[in-house]
Formats: sequence, structure tokens, C-alpha cells
Amino acid sequence: MRKLASIQKIKALDPIPDADAIMRATVLGWELVVKKDEFKEGELCVYCEIDSILPNKPEFEFLKPRGMRIRTIRLRGQISQGICFPLSVLPEGTPIEEDLDVTDVLGVIKYEPPIPAMLAGVMKSTFPSFIPKTDETRVQVLQKTLDKYQNEKCFVTEKLDGSSVTYYLRDEVFGVCSRNMELEADDENTFWAVARTLNVEEKLKSFGRNIALQGELIGEGVQGNKYALKGQTARFFNIYDIDKSAYVDFNEFESILKTLDLPSVPILETDYALSNDIHTLIEKSKMRSTLNDKVWAEGIVIRPLEERHERNVGRVSFKAINPEFLLKYE
Ligand code: AMP
Ligand code: MN
Repeated sequence: MRKLASIQKIKALDPIPDADAIMRATVLGWELVVKKDEFKEGELCVYCEIDSILPNKPEFEFLKPRGMRIRTIRLRGQISQGICFPLSVLPEGTPIEEDLDVTDVLGVIKYEPPIPAMLAGVMKSTFPSFIPKTDETRVQVLQKTLDKYQNEKCFVTEKLDGSSVTYYLRDEVFGVCSRNMELEADDENTFWAVARTLNVEEKLKSFGRNIALQGELIGEGVQGNKYALKGQTARFFNIYDIDKSAYVDFNEFESILKTLDLPSVPILETDYALSNDIHTLIEKSKMRSTLNDKVWAEGIVIRPLEERHERNVGRVSFKAINPEFLLKYE
């Protein structure tokens, strides 16, 4: 589970060229700007991630002009993601332990972008319990996993900024889901329209296996259509074997998509030896989109070629979001 606000150590404090009043702090794998004498290296603080919405209280008043939301900013050339507060913002009696989740005690909630009507659709049921919802962990909180899987052979895909879609076939029944629910079949809804354009139902039925295809819906009317595409489509990033309750490995993923003649998300590398340096991975995410080189890519998603699982972390698969993309669109 993502901790929007937690107690964390200031791992490092470094000067920022030509800026005397501010410093660059490293917290988890995040880099952010703090005031010069506000914190000491090694000290604990309350760290709030980007996309936190803070409660409207006097100590967070300065966020009011920004809708109380913490975004990625650039100060004196330094990208800053998140905010560190002194421990004194915590209610009295809060135990002071590194990594403690203080999201609820502080009253922090997550910013959720609004969903356009065309995408929203009519709910048929909650998200099917036999398929995992799509999600990716941010690389900034995964130092331990990176250390364990350093040099593991991975594949890297471009992270597309659209809307998550799941198409499945289970015992001959075809279903269409957006990120959090299953959708009633209808003519207006974009998730269903793309299923028809790509012939997903027919293809899954002729394939015959109980699987779910998960991908990103992109194009006109979706997240501002940053890639300036005509029409709408879906690009797939997961194939889940419902009978085995497991994602298929990269090889099988590619071969099934080939058989079904359905497009994957852009595959950037298939023989990447994983680095355990978060900064290196963030640098790697600073690229133009392969769909349209006039715009920044949202980032990259990295996964082992063979599926891996970790206790506490779950599936080993994570995103590195391009800070330039966040600066432009957040
Ligand atoms: P976020 O968009 O920050 O919530 O990150 C997780 C989401 O990224 C997933 O739920 C997918 O919908 C989406 N996504 C876009 N491109 C990819 C990709 N290449 N691999 C995996 N997930 C992706
Ligand atoms: Mn997204």
C-alpha cells in the first residue's frame, strides 16, 4: 500500500548550485527542496508524497492556492517532489517510528483526476475478484527490492497516460472493466467502443482460455490525448491467467498478443539488467514518447522477464515517472 504521508529519515542534504537558502534533501528515493536550516541529515520528518491533498489547517495554509495538493515543482533548477514537515505537525501522542504511515492521522487524502463522462460508463458490478486491479508501485519506495533484484533481466515499456482497461473471458463470459469496476455494455462508453474496434470479444472467444487482457486506453477524449492520436485504441501491458491466478511471463505475453493480433504498450528494452540506483532509473524515464516525439513520455514501467513476487511488495513491477512530464501536466 502506498503511504502518502509517513515518518521518514532525511537520508542526505546537499547544496543546490547558486541557491544559498535552500538544500536538496533525499527521502526514500525522492529528491525535494527544503529550507537551509530546517532539517539535519539523519533526522526524522513527516514526508508527504506528490498527489497528497493536505487538510485545510493553518500549518498547511501555504498550499491553499494549489488546491491543497502537493505537486512536482522545480526550484532553482532542482526538481522537488513531495514536502517534508517537522514531526511537530503530528498530533500529540503519535508514536515516532521510521516508516510509520501517518496518512490517516494527518487527514491526508489522495488526489484523483476527474473521469470524463464518455469514459465513466455505467457500473455493472465491482471489479471482478478473480483479476487483480492494475497498479504500479513508484520506484522511489523500492530500494530494498532493487537491491535484491539488481542485475535481474528485465523488460522496459513506455508508461502511457490514458485510462486503465481490463477485458476478460471467463467460462465463455466476456467482460469489460475500467480501473475500479466492471461496466455494463453500452454504445456510448469508450471502453466498450474500443473492445468492438479491436474485436476483443471475438478474439478472446476463439482463443478460448480464461484470461484477462489489461492495457491502457488512449486517444481522443482520454487524458487530453497528449499523443495527438486519431480515434481511440488500447495498448496492452498485462495478460493474467485466471485459472492459474498468475500473470504470464514476458515471452508468453508477447506470443499471446501476437496470436490475438493486439498491440502491446511500446516495448523499449527486453534485455535490461536492473540497476538498483533510483536516481539512474529516474534519469532513464526522462524521454520523449515513442508515440509522439513532440511530447514527454509519462515514464517507464520495468518488470523482470520472468514474473517475480515478494512478500509485502507483491508483484515485482514498478514505474519510474518522468519528472519533466509531471512538471508539464500535473
Ligand atoms: P498510475 O497511472 O500512476 O496510476 O500508474 C499505474 C497505471 O499505469 C496502471 O494502472 C496502468 O493503467 C497504467 N499504465 C500505463 N502504461 C503502462 C505500462 N506500460 N505498464 C503498466 N502499466 C501501465
Ligand atoms: Mn495513469
